[in-house]
Amino acid sequence: MENIDWGSLGFGYYKTDYNVRCYYRNGKWGELEVCSSEEITMHMAATVLHYGQAAFEGMKAFRGVDGRIRMFRPYENAKRMISSAQGVMMAEPPEELFVEACKKAVKLNERFVPPYGSGASLYLRPILIGTGAQVGVHPAKEYLFMVFACPVGPYFKEGFKPVKFQIAKDYDRAAPFGTGKYKVGGNYAASLVSGERAVKEGYSNCIYLNAATHEFIDEAGAANFFGIKNNTYCTPQSSSILPSITNLSLCQIAEDLGMKVERRQIPVEELAEFEEVAACGTAAVVSPINEIVDRETGKKYTWGAEPGPVSTKLYNTLKGIQDGTIEDKHNWNVFVD
Ligand SMILES: *Cc1c(COP(=O)(O)O)cnc(C)c1O
Repeated sequence: MENIDWGSLGFGYYKTDYNVRCYYRNGKWGELEVCSSEEITMHMAATVLHYGQAAFEGMKAFRGVDGRIRMFRPYENAKRMISSAQGVMMAEPPEELFVEACKKAVKLNERFVPPYGSGASLYLRPILIGTGAQVGVHPAKEYLFMVFACPVGPYFKEGFKPVKFQIAKDYDRAAPFGTGKYKVGGNYAASLVSGERAVKEGYSNCIYLNAATHEFIDEAGAANFFGIKNNTYCTPQSSSILPSITNLSLCQIAEDLGMKVERRQIPVEELAEFEEVAACGTAAVVSPINEIVDRETGKKYTWGAEPGPVSTKLYNTLKGIQDGTIEDKHNWNVFVD
């Protein structure tokens, strides 16, 4: 295993040995190629550069208590990348190709898979981009699908500690019938100004509201949102949020733990009624929130300085399944070895 101080890893790029690539040309996908270069060469008129034909995924591989390496629900990421590809008219990498490429990226970089108990994991970043040249606004005829891997620590430097969010009504992340439900590059470009401002003002990120009326909670930065009250797990239903696989898993875990699960619109004022609120995603895992401030009115919603009992239970259960210490009864893990 690589000699890395796993405990002090943050969430960022880290050079590993190999990446895996596959090209779409003449109407079909080629063979998976293994590459050790960090660079991509492409045509200057590639559609990714002008018209944003770009989608990505994010998932993690973990070294379990038994030493075996598990990827968490990669078929769900494959399905979502296909949906994103359809959303911006790109060639779709078939599910099996997607999972095979991910497995290969993990195996080839096995020495970078952090040890059990380190709190770190191997983050996989599959990307799909239009590489074919176009000058008019049309989809490319050629695409590159690739997967690279980086060992990562926690997304928020606080780790499993509460973080603060800001409601900003002067920016929207995604329009009601726009691309918010796809993991496509443009959405993240559109969130940078408000996100960086939130960070500068002392918050982890923004809470985005539904763009049409700014009444309901959509997302917590690049993570989904959930609130807990009366033994119920509540998470927003909206056409413009990214369907988080972590959230999907937490809904199931909450149900397995005997909680009720509600997917519905969540009015901002309801924040006052939640016993616990949190952001969730592959990178954020479960990040409890202890403060949400409306930037415009100054209205403040607060929760305890320590993670609440339900968020803690959900976090520990999800982590236990990923680490192989809790039974994986829904068969979410895919073994790499
Ligand atoms: C990736 C992402 C999430 C989290 O999805 P996971 O599948 O749980 O990683 C949530 N919101 C946005 C905007 C995202 O890009």
